[in-house]
Amino acid sequence: FAYPMPVNEPVLNYGPGSPEKATLKKTLAELKKKEADIPMYIGGRAVRTGNRIAITPPHEKDHVLGYFHEGDAKHVQQAIDAALKARASWAETSWESRAAIFLKAADLIATKYRSYMNGTTMLGQSKNAYQAEIDAACEIIDFLRFNVHFLSEIYKQQPISSPGMHNRMEWRPLEGFVLAITPFNFTAIGGNLPTAPAMCGNTVVWKPAHTQIYSAQMFMRILQEAGLPDGVINLIYVDGPTLGDVCFSHRDFAGVHFTGSTGVFNTMWATIGANIAQYRTYPRIVGETGGKDFVLVHRSADPDVVATALARGAFEFQGQKCSAASRAYLPSNIAEIVKRKLVDQVEQMKMGSVEDFSNFINAVIDERSYDKIKKYIDRARKDRKAKILVGGNCDKRKGYFVEPTVIETTDPQYVTMCEEIFGPVLTIYTYDANNFEKALNLVDNTSPYALTGSIIARDRDAIELATSRLRNAAGNFYINDKPTGAVVGQQPFGGARASGTNDKAGSMLNLYRWLSARTIKETY
Ligand code: GLU
Repeated sequence: FAYPMPVNEPVLNYGPGSPEKATLKKTLAELKKKEADIPMYIGGRAVRTGNRIAITPPHEKDHVLGYFHEGDAKHVQQAIDAALKARASWAETSWESRAAIFLKAADLIATKYRSYMNGTTMLGQSKNAYQAEIDAACEIIDFLRFNVHFLSEIYKQQPISSPGMHNRMEWRPLEGFVLAITPFNFTAIGGNLPTAPAMCGNTVVWKPAHTQIYSAQMFMRILQEAGLPDGVINLIYVDGPTLGDVCFSHRDFAGVHFTGSTGVFNTMWATIGANIAQYRTYPRIVGETGGKDFVLVHRSADPDVVATALARGAFEFQGQKCSAASRAYLPSNIAEIVKRKLVDQVEQMKMGSVEDFSNFINAVIDERSYDKIKKYIDRARKDRKAKILVGGNCDKRKGYFVEPTVIETTDPQYVTMCEEIFGPVLTIYTYDANNFEKALNLVDNTSPYALTGSIIARDRDAIELATSRLRNAAGNFYINDKPTGAVVGQQPFGGARASGTNDKAGSMLNLYRWLSARTIKETY
């Protein structure tokens, strides 16, 4: 069964008077009116523990959207049991039937539940309509359709045979269960991490971040409606240590598909290493972690291109993207004009609730994140080496609002040039425009991460030089653009160094990790 390369799901624009805007407004009102009661889904069953935890919009923290039922170690064990029970029949299910379920889920989102995927993402994660649309609608749909295509390409790959024998590869799923751990910042990552292994015939235990549950359960229900058999994906809400204790000591733990912090990934890797002798097979460890993504500007750059790349790259979705531009290197010849243009753009950004579609900046995800971001800003306000060019105000009375903030520093190793903040904070350093070499070195050596980065230049030699010298500084490298917004099928996404295992999301590279091939030689 071959599934041709799909086209990307078109992005709707939610402009004034558009039908999609009217539908979405209606869904938002409906979601806000009722209090959802959100169970876990284990073996296809809705599981309610009675330990109910409130879900509130980050931009309106006193409004309760509903409650989710938190689980404990027992539920982790039940989810593993359900996954293992479903494993044999799912692995035997024909590829055509497996694919049909995920393609149907994509269509259900595109046609029937688009406003619900967007609405739950907007309210639960404080993403504005446009940012939700490119994530919870288009990117999830793309992950599902493109992965079906890529997997059908993988299945076609077969070794050669010679006279008297027939050789073949059987693309088996892994032996055991796969764990998917997903973050709040992209609903689409929640869509991809459990479904990519499941599509390959694996069964999965899926634990989303608590702050992602509102949209995650919506997606789970869509998968069920599309016909996903019980136990193939089991959605549970537990804390990380409880999850780790049960899963990483289980004999049938076969792999983890993770997006989250470098610290958590490192701890996980060490635990898996320490337990290695207990497993039936070597587990696959696939992770996308942190970033400290750069924008390197050459003296030949167009200042307007730079200002827009920085404003959008740093501040869309409040900078809560692993890919967000967070350190910029400006050449002295155009630094002043770029700063003026950037400040102008940032001053025009409206901040407030996602329910007013004219707001560009919304709230950051929760209080912990708010406090962490504010600490960096407060420190910059006091430090002699730093100056706040624009923004810097924070207010958590109604929701967790942090103004888009640009810090300028005279020290290329200043703390906000080096550490991942995961919020709307961009730090700028100006280098001597005649010393591009120095800037290249700084970009490559200031941070342990290597996720995304941009070079902005009109000079072709500068573009060539940066592209080759920064070969290992970013897994996604952009020329004359912001370093965010990778599209499935167009820019396979991921980075190396402290940013992860670089098994590009939405590509064959990723899918291979969930397969364990058997070579069969038959002699006549
Ligand atoms: N794929 C997203 C982008 O290109 C970033 C994903 C992330 O933040 O983890 O902007």
